[in-house]
Amino acid sequence: MNHVFPRHTKALPPVAVRGEGSYLYDESGKQYLDGSGGAAVSCLGHSDPDVINAIKAQIDAMAFAHTGFFTSEPAESLADQLIAHAPEGIDRVYFVSGGSEAVEAALKLARQYFLEIGQPKRSRFIARHQSYHGNTLAALATGGNAWRKEPFAPLMIGTSHISPCYEYRGREDGETPEAYGLRVANELEEELLRLGPENVIGFIAEPVVGATLGAVPPVPGYFKRVREICDQYGILLILDEVMCGMGRTGTLFASEQEGISPDIVTIAKGLGAGYQPIGATLCSKAIYEAIENGSGFFQHGHTYVGHPTACAAANVVVGKLTHGGLTARAKIMGEKLDSALQAAFAQHPHIGDIRGRGMFRGLEVVEDRATKQPFDPALAINNKLKKACFNAGLICYPMGGTIDGKRGDHILLAPPFIITDAQIDELVSKLDQAFLEVLS
Ligand code: PMP
Repeated sequence: MNHVFPRHTKALPPVAVRGEGSYLYDESGKQYLDGSGGAAVSCLGHSDPDVINAIKAQIDAMAFAHTGFFTSEPAESLADQLIAHAPEGIDRVYFVSGGSEAVEAALKLARQYFLEIGQPKRSRFIARHQSYHGNTLAALATGGNAWRKEPFAPLMIGTSHISPCYEYRGREDGETPEAYGLRVANELEEELLRLGPENVIGFIAEPVVGATLGAVPPVPGYFKRVREICDQYGILLILDEVMCGMGRTGTLFASEQEGISPDIVTIAKGLGAGYQPIGATLCSKAIYEAIENGSGFFQHGHTYVGHPTACAAANVVVGKLTHGGLTARAKIMGEKLDSALQAAFAQHPHIGDIRGRGMFRGLEVVEDRATKQPFDPALAINNKLKKACFNAGLICYPMGGTIDGKRGDHILLAPPFIITDAQIDELVSKLDQAFLEVLS
């Protein structure tokens, strides 16, 4: 066991051997409550028999057929299911193997759309600081996380970044949430005018920011104004729902709660729920028709596009999220999780903010609650919290370390939607234990 390239070469992880419900087990038999679903992946928990049986049945029938030659029933029915619940105007689904691939496909599709309609000058994207869109090169370029990009800076495509909608740190004293939302949304217009709208392909954003900020929802009206600006200047709105989509925030698509529709939306993580690697890029009828009536070919593709076994698993997942009622459960249990977090930590001297929607919650950890002063990054509070939680048998997803001086450390919680009341209590109590150990 010495040839896997590990994530951290100086700290090898334990060997995971078994998953059951909301728990994972390592080879020593230690139990871990999966408080973050890995990285907001395992929405159904770890041992759903229906997904497992669907995978087995599909493999028995046909594991794989290349989309250069065939479509398949699992891919067709999954696309139908997704479109039945997708934001208005979204009409086609392009299947990939994960989130970064979904974003990469979205960026290329957006560029090709403008080529098809005779606007080849458009080459730039606008995105937001403190966002994450994936680790492949174009996805990385649109992300707003400086330290991730720095080593690869010479390889990045042209992207400008505007402020995120981050109420806890961005809203000024006396400013209403609505006025704040308009102010930061209007940065998009300013940037468009600076670049020349005719040079811009689109704006990409996560409706609820995940990995970089820890479950930060937009203020009311922010995305309505963003949609208005995109329409006024003729650019595409790409929403990255890789983390916040698939029921995580209490609706199948997070954008539903903003009352707007994107031109392109990306999903992954919860789509396969960890049972299979799958993501998707969904687009409007107008985008699809531009290609259909133009070159007739999306100039993109990977070997595992539309993988039948992955689609068979995701078909069961989406069925459970929709008519199976699990998205509704994510909303209800998410509110219980929020109440439990508020009761335990709202007055904690080092918890500055508790936020999120549905089964997607974040806690911002600060040195000083009153001033919102973050901890010194050298203290690596986020890593210490991750370790303390892990030792206590809780998986949570910590990020931060004030990388850009504009935020504190945070903990992202994204448990399986099947979590029980008792497991919520267990999660909060283990988190409390970790806070005691690291923050006092
Ligand atoms: N977009 C968002 C919003 C994400 O949170 C992530 C993963 N954290 C990605 C894209 C990339 O997904 P993947 O890791 O599956 O490539």
